[in-house]
Amino acid sequence: MVYAGALAFLIACSPSSVSSPSDSLVSPSALPQTSAAPSPFPQATQTEFSTSAPTETLVPVPEIPQVTLDVLLDYNAHQADVIETIIYPNRTGDPLTQLVLAVEPNFWSGAFNLASASVDGNPITPILNDQYMEIQLPQVLAPDAATTLNFQYTLNLPVLRSPASGERHLTTFGYSDRQLNLAHWYPFVVPYLPGKGWGLHDPWLSGEHLVHDLADYTVHLHFSDPANPPIVAASGVEQESPQVGPASNFHHYRLQKGRAFAISASNEYLVSEQQAGDVLVRSYYFPEHQPAGQAVLQASTQAVQVYSDKFGQPPHPTLSAVEADFDDGMEFSGLYFLSRDYYARYDGTPQNYATLLAAHETAHQWWFERVANDQATEPWLDEALSTYSEYIFLESIYPNLTNWWWSYRVDSYTPKGWVDTTIYSGGKFRPYVNAVYLQGARFLRDLRTRMGDEAFFAFLCDYYSRMGGKISTKENFLTILRQHTSADVSDIIAGYFQDPR
Ligand SMILES: [Zn+2]
Repeated sequence: MVYAGALAFLIACSPSSVSSPSDSLVSPSALPQTSAAPSPFPQATQTEFSTSAPTETLVPVPEIPQVTLDVLLDYNAHQADVIETIIYPNRTGDPLTQLVLAVEPNFWSGAFNLASASVDGNPITPILNDQYMEIQLPQVLAPDAATTLNFQYTLNLPVLRSPASGERHLTTFGYSDRQLNLAHWYPFVVPYLPGKGWGLHDPWLSGEHLVHDLADYTVHLHFSDPANPPIVAASGVEQESPQVGPASNFHHYRLQKGRAFAISASNEYLVSEQQAGDVLVRSYYFPEHQPAGQAVLQASTQAVQVYSDKFGQPPHPTLSAVEADFDDGMEFSGLYFLSRDYYARYDGTPQNYATLLAAHETAHQWWFERVANDQATEPWLDEALSTYSEYIFLESIYPNLTNWWWSYRVDSYTPKGWVDTTIYSGGKFRPYVNAVYLQGARFLRDLRTRMGDEAFFAFLCDYYSRMGGKISTKENFLTILRQHTSADVSDIIAGYFQDPR
């Protein structure tokens, strides 16, 4: 797919500027199998071994958590039996006596049914209260040692529905009469944030509340009725292709350095795909929305190409856009959902939310997936950037629509509010979006005007490169920004931020 973005190459990120040091890490599967005593290797090689397990089993210490999920899905009963293993390396620098995990399905009564849990083979009983799971470790987990968690549980999915007024914003996990979504569906160890402790926040009326470390995922998906498998979209890369595809009766996925692995299944999906450089983009949509499904595919493909040039290489080799049988949209690793409402309102032109939000959700692969942030306390870091990325997409693909975008997407709402609003201080959907997304886009526009295009895009490339694989903060953003301009931007920051430090 070609696109009318020749100017992009004038200010494209150089390939060397987008590889992070972590890109060269060896995955644990490639590590030598140990039969030796404690590590003869220097620490930097990552081939360390822990002898802390009571069973004396030597556990290779991976750089990031290794998550394996074996899933038996009963599509018609909306139920999944899961065996999960997490090899968790302690990279916090502190000795740990406990681990805190997020268990989002436990917000629904009866949805998360834990059959067993163990640490390094020793059965344990975790504390489980709403999404909060706490595991007291049988012994201290030293820095740079690893421990292995195992869980067996059954998920009984809730019905997908819009939250009622005043209800917490939890919309993606569940089923409808034509779709089943495993989204934020497995326990995961939340990040340990320096100076803050475990990064697990409560959901609220608007926005997202989770913070994700990187992990490597291996997912095996079986069906209780393998003769009639649904069509499946997933975060990872299918391992046995091309023999197996979206309608296979067994799936084996791998996702490396991902934030959140999502799966969506339906008997009704139509699937279209297109290559965007090294990224295979797939669009999954319901049969009555074929033109919109194609438009979402095209916009996502074009957006991958634009952002690859403007920001740096995308994090994953696949991206799936999935028509959601719920409101709004939601980003995951290598996958995003976009509400059927936007497909239904698609009018055959690019001047609509199907196109704009396809560009927005695609941008989250850069701002959320590769460069993460605390979505509860600093949601602007991914949302302002993803919203302004819509504008950057239009500049390259539909340059005659840029003025329309400001008028339609931003100015018509006369947005107010601080860009550094949290999900807890933002109120309901519209005032929250106006402050974080729309004022956030104006903030980035004003920065760009003050700095000039060359410095602004050099900053974005550098920010993407240096914060890739990490959890960014406002301090990281502003520090890197100031390294790319000698212009005084303090008045702009003071105008948009409640806390302009
Ligand atoms: Zn967003």
